[in-house]
Amino acid sequence: MISVEEAEKIILDSMGTMGKTEVELAQASGHVLREDLQADRDLPPFNRSTFDGIAIASKAFREGTRTFAIQGTALAGSPRLSLDSREQCVEIMTGAPLPDEADCVVKIEDLKIENGKATVLDPDQAESGHGIHELGSDCSKGETLLKAGVTISPKEIAVAASIGKATVQVSTMPRIAIIATGDELVPVDSVPEPHQIRRSNDLTLATALNAAGYTSTTRLHLDDDPSEIEATVSKLLESEDVLILAGGISKGKRDYLPETLLNQGVDRKFQWVSQRPGKPLWFGTFQREHHDFPVFALPGNPVSCFTCLHRYVLPALDKWLARTPKAQTYAQLQEETAFHPPLSLFLPAFANFSSDGAYQATPVPFNTSGDFISVSKTDGFIELPKERTHFSKGQTFKFYPWVS
Ligand code: AMP
Ligand code: MG
Repeated sequence: MISVEEAEKIILDSMGTMGKTEVELAQASGHVLREDLQADRDLPPFNRSTFDGIAIASKAFREGTRTFAIQGTALAGSPRLSLDSREQCVEIMTGAPLPDEADCVVKIEDLKIENGKATVLDPDQAESGHGIHELGSDCSKGETLLKAGVTISPKEIAVAASIGKATVQVSTMPRIAIIATGDELVPVDSVPEPHQIRRSNDLTLATALNAAGYTSTTRLHLDDDPSEIEATVSKLLESEDVLILAGGISKGKRDYLPETLLNQGVDRKFQWVSQRPGKPLWFGTFQREHHDFPVFALPGNPVSCFTCLHRYVLPALDKWLARTPKAQTYAQLQEETAFHPPLSLFLPAFANFSSDGAYQATPVPFNTSGDFISVSKTDGFIELPKERTHFSKGQTFKFYPWVS
């Protein structure tokens, strides 16, 4: 049996780097960017008016001019104009380029406009630079605006679009097969016999993966039948990039997975981790066309399955796709806790910020690792290390929020 930290390291060390692919920007949200993106020009690309008003030379105002003859109109999208003289102004709209010789925009609310002339009413609004979003003040041409590794979301789309990236290089989305095993499992829409239960793990895993940005998933169910498992696993190892199995990996009479995976040439890296829940966790890799692909076999108990997904599978996939690692979250334990077995304890907990800004985790009592009802009342789990047996209220430990 290995520790949580050893298991984490073995998994992360086994993850190479997924290939890249080019996608249209409109389809890029949720993908991991695999190139640095640079500004193709200064931004803003011209001195841009931030108001509707008039553009003037502030020097004329300082020297006493208050009323300016309007010589024309600068519109957003029109080429740059030029002031004919310091006694004149140009009516200007938000987003229009500031005319040459002008260095100030006075907004319409601070003006009186009549008979083709504009009079400045508020002297404080006529200083040099006023009302101007200056050329190159956001970034210079060539500056790196987005780094490889970022997860593309609407705000990154805005940057990429504005610098002309119609397509971007992203990590290839892995094809993930989620396989729930167990004779007792029946479909969600069936009426179970008293000894049967409805399948929840595979749908939960797929939903969590989807929320974390892994959208290419297929779900299957297999009975505890070694030949059926072997045939299906063999096919999936040919077609899928990741296998996530749930159930059938412990020491029960019908736990066929460890043997099946070995028979199919999956290289077992470990089984048994000193943690509760989730001790039977199994991890291995398989080779196809000289690349290693991961196989995670998670315990079937829903709480074990869910915590192992968050503790191991999601960070592993993030590393594989070259996503910039997320900062570790910590939370203050809100309940004195004693736990004697030499295991790391993953405690599902409700989380909140206190009035002084501390992130706090209050464990929610749960009734064995089969109790997924209690998990639904929590926000993640707090991890209490195996080296200790007593954990005081107020002490800080790693916290893993559930993806949502
Ligand atoms: P196993 O790891 O196969 O021994 O399963 C452990 C427990 O988890 C058993 O009580 C199973 O019925 C339950 N379980 C396994 N797979 C699922 C699933 N897909 N959905 C809900 N519960 C499951
Ligand atoms: Mg089973």
